Amino acid sequence: MNYRHAYHAGNFADCLKHVILARVIEHLKIKPQPFRVIDTHAGTGRYDLGGIEAGKTGEWQNGIGRLMQATLPATAAALLEPYLATVRDINGSGPLSVYPGSPLIARSLMRRDDQLVANELHPDDFVELKALFHKVRDSKVLNLDAWVAVKSLLPPKERRGVVLIDPPFERSDEFDCMAEGLEEAIRRFASGVYIVWYPLKDARAADRFIGRTRAAGAVKALDVRFQICEPAPDLGLTASGVLIINPPFRLRSELDILMPCLSATLAKDASSSFGMTQWEDVGGA
Ligand code: SAM
Repeated sequence: MNYRHAYHAGNFADCLKHVILARVIEHLKIKPQPFRVIDTHAGTGRYDLGGIEAGKTGEWQNGIGRLMQATLPATAAALLEPYLATVRDINGSGPLSVYPGSPLIARSLMRRDDQLVANELHPDDFVELKALFHKVRDSKVLNLDAWVAVKSLLPPKERRGVVLIDPPFERSDEFDCMAEGLEEAIRRFASGVYIVWYPLKDARAADRFIGRTRAAGAVKALDVRFQICEPAPDLGLTASGVLIINPPFRLRSELDILMPCLSATLAKDASSSFGMTQWEDVGGA
């Protein structure tokens, strides 16, 4: 396990994924019944943007760095506000120097009785995550393989909630693992919302994964793809996708407003673009 999210925290891919996570949580809060957030690959939960790792890539500067400075149309700004508020809160009155990871963003937006389960396999990251959530009520931190966690945690007792699946893609068979894991997850908790992040380096591999997931019972879903510039060998990740299974009703129309703003704000060249594909199968794919 060599992947460390500290190198990438707050980059364009994090911004997209965390905007979607925040919007989904805001939708779940519309109903009074408690819900659960299960974060299968949680990371450390908090990242030092002035640290050595973040400094080596500088990725956050073209991600959350730009987004925090952007002047956006009022409707987009209002939709982004819950997410951006979590970033402002963790930084207090000082300059942007810390970025919240997915479990901290989720917990900051959740209500008192909503339950958070954050799971992280890397032993060092787990220790940091555990310390961060020490004594935070209605929050549990686990140190399991994500797919073992999925089997043991689903369905949640609230029968409402969101599962964030955000693997590091270190393994060459990560798309296959995700497809298998998701199939099992959907079988156990078909009504859950799933937010699944993936890198877009090989569009055909991503398409195969989407096709497999659809065939496995993802009846309603929205696939969002975002490119910030033309890929080049020295550039690292330039495009990523987020698949949302059982997206909240208004998420698509919100992303119709947000994606042009994210694309314009986070673009590294004129080829910045996004695409969204939605499906709702009657009786399965
Ligand atoms: N979700 C985090 C966020 O948005 O702030 C970032 C997570 S990072 C992309 C992926 C994390 O998965 C890493 O912290 C890595 O250590 C962890 N990880 C790798 N393999 C895992 C596995 N099999 N089960 C659980 N966690 C794993």
